Amino acid sequence: MLIVQKFGGTSVGDLDRIQNVAHRVSRTKNKGHDIIVVVSAMSGETNKLVDYAEHFSKNPSRGDMDMLLSSGERITASLLSIALQELGHDSVAMTGRKAGILTDTSHTKARIENINPRAMKEAIKKGKIIVVAGFQGVNEHGDVTTLGRGGSDLSAVAIAGAIKADLCEIYTDVSGIYTTDPRIEPKAKKLDKISYDEMLELASLGAKVLQSRSVEMAKKLNVNLVTRTSFSDEEGTLICKEENIMEAPLVSAIALDRNQARISLMGVKDKPGIASDIFNKLAEAEVNIDVIIQNKSHDGTTNIDFTVLVSDLHNAKSVVDEFVKTGDIDADSYNEEICKVSVVGVGMKSHAGVAAKAFSTMADNNININMIATSEIKISMVIDEKYAELAVRGLHEAYELDK
Ligand code: ADP
Ligand code: ASP
Ligand code: MG
Repeated sequence: MLIVQKFGGTSVGDLDRIQNVAHRVSRTKNKGHDIIVVVSAMSGETNKLVDYAEHFSKNPSRGDMDMLLSSGERITASLLSIALQELGHDSVAMTGRKAGILTDTSHTKARIENINPRAMKEAIKKGKIIVVAGFQGVNEHGDVTTLGRGGSDLSAVAIAGAIKADLCEIYTDVSGIYTTDPRIEPKAKKLDKISYDEMLELASLGAKVLQSRSVEMAKKLNVNLVTRTSFSDEEGTLICKEENIMEAPLVSAIALDRNQARISLMGVKDKPGIASDIFNKLAEAEVNIDVIIQNKSHDGTTNIDFTVLVSDLHNAKSVVDEFVKTGDIDADSYNEEICKVSVVGVGMKSHAGVAAKAFSTMADNNININMIATSEIKISMVIDEKYAELAVRGLHEAYELDK
């Protein structure tokens, strides 16, 4: 088989763990499989690099940020390859560029446009183990780019798709996908299987165990994706097509996203085109908008509230402040002390009353809901961050996910 194995930050968190990973890869290779390994930076490394940059600037050039951030993964890739050689294997470390990962020019959140697997295929043909530095690619100008936080998952899935690997294994610090983050709710249950669509919702709603774009890509390219732990041989969770799952539960999991900030625009001039103006400018600044609500007030203006990623808040502020200056908006305010809890399940499509239960769970716990967004398979609620864990545990119990 041709297998892609991705190891996340905790799994390569120190030299002993890198050695462990080398042994695991070595065992797979000795079974006769071809392997491409994708690695993250050692845990905490990328955050440390971000902090270093922030020491000098609140708004650093994003091209330089990519030069900086991509270095963490190069360190682990080289070290792992060296450790593998010491175990008697022929291995080679590759940067994203060498692995042929071509992206657009959107620094710090680049999209993969194409993968040219020539160098990888040649190395595999020679029997080498390849160790690719995850999270990075190269754009048409030859500049290094990164794929957004958690992006090594995307590197692994995209490579698995491009070289038509038989299996893509994501090794992390929990043994699979759980009914909610097991660090918040110890009663969370591991799922044997989860559909691409549910996993995509969970990932986009904050369950960082897989990066959402990696799940999107896995679905599109039909990649056989498994999440499992690098610390034992325990079976993981298979992410697969919905039809491969016998009985879809009403609710599969609860997700929590703490990386949200709320922006409130007060006294927005109530005229056609104003919302489109504001949100177009935000899109140009590459700010992703999440939940939006608009209220009419009696004086002919409206209030618009929306949420953005905390990391986009600075850019969003600059855009919105311009509208305040021109008088199209009376005032704006920001709140980072919020979070978003979501209930996810494909079974919801055909059942009424799922939302009502979520709202009454919040009421029973005296948690005020600030904003609500729903789709066919999810209900999201924006609440004060201090209630995050209470809400997750309450919902987990209300939908009997611990049973
Ligand atoms: P890695 O460094 O291996 O990429 P991450 O920290 O990105 O690992 O993702 C793994 C973490 O995701 C787990 O430690 C867990 O706290 C969190 N997590 C959130 N939701 C879930 C869930 N539903 N199932 C499993 N893990 C989850
Ligand atoms: N090191 C990067 C991050 O921390 C990418 C990854 O770990 O997947 O976001
Ligand atoms: Mg991750």
